[in-house]
Amino acid sequence: MDSAALETRYRQVLARIRGAEQVAGRLPGEVRLIAVSKRHPAAAVYHLMRLGQRHFGESYVQEAVDKMAELAELPLCWHFIGPIQSNKTRQIAAHFDWVHSLDREKIAARLNAQRPDHLPPLRVLLQVNVSGEAQKAGVAPERLPDLARAVLELPRLQLMGLMALPRKTRDPARQAAAFAAVVAARQGLNRELDLELPDLSMGMSGDLEAAIAQGATWVRVGEDIFGPRG
Ligand SMILES: *Cc1c(COP(=O)(O)O)cnc(C)c1O
Repeated sequence: MDSAALETRYRQVLARIRGAEQVAGRLPGEVRLIAVSKRHPAAAVYHLMRLGQRHFGESYVQEAVDKMAELAELPLCWHFIGPIQSNKTRQIAAHFDWVHSLDREKIAARLNAQRPDHLPPLRVLLQVNVSGEAQKAGVAPERLPDLARAVLELPRLQLMGLMALPRKTRDPARQAAAFAAVVAARQGLNRELDLELPDLSMGMSGDLEAAIAQGATWVRVGEDIFGPRG
């Protein structure tokens, strides 16, 4: 690990976020960064923590739990952002603070039942599929109210908002359209269920500016901080 290069890239990403907040007329610090550390070692997480980074994202449960064990007792906040298999819910419920990729009632029920009593409710975001690709994770916008109603019944989960992972494109107009669709999905959900869900998790290395312009509250950045994943 080249810690000087890591620090440089990290500061560049923070500057991009601040710049995008400014351009969008948003308050400084309104958008929070999740450093996506999947397939990067605990030492890199530790280094970023020393620079002030607190939120980290992981997609693979076993890798994440091993890394957390190396970093135990540190003031870190862990976000699960990957596809959720039923046989992994117990570990997710026990080790993570947030889950961004919830898209099925059955998984919600398991996370609720398995969230340990000594921890606060697990904060969850519903993953919405705004690209309409059949094989992609996430619920269709029209199915959001049913899933949200089910989650709101579960006392050990706290519904915070929506997450999206739109098809990658370098076309700023397409990026904006996809993120605007997520905002519209939240608006529709808030209206139908009389909610005020605060969070939108959207924007990655290649499209964080577009996401911030549309209202992201969390951006999830991997490669532009840690470099390419092997
Ligand atoms: C890997 C991943 C990211 C980070 O992607 P980069 O292109 O490396 O910034 C963000 N969100 C999810 C859901 C991911 O799986």
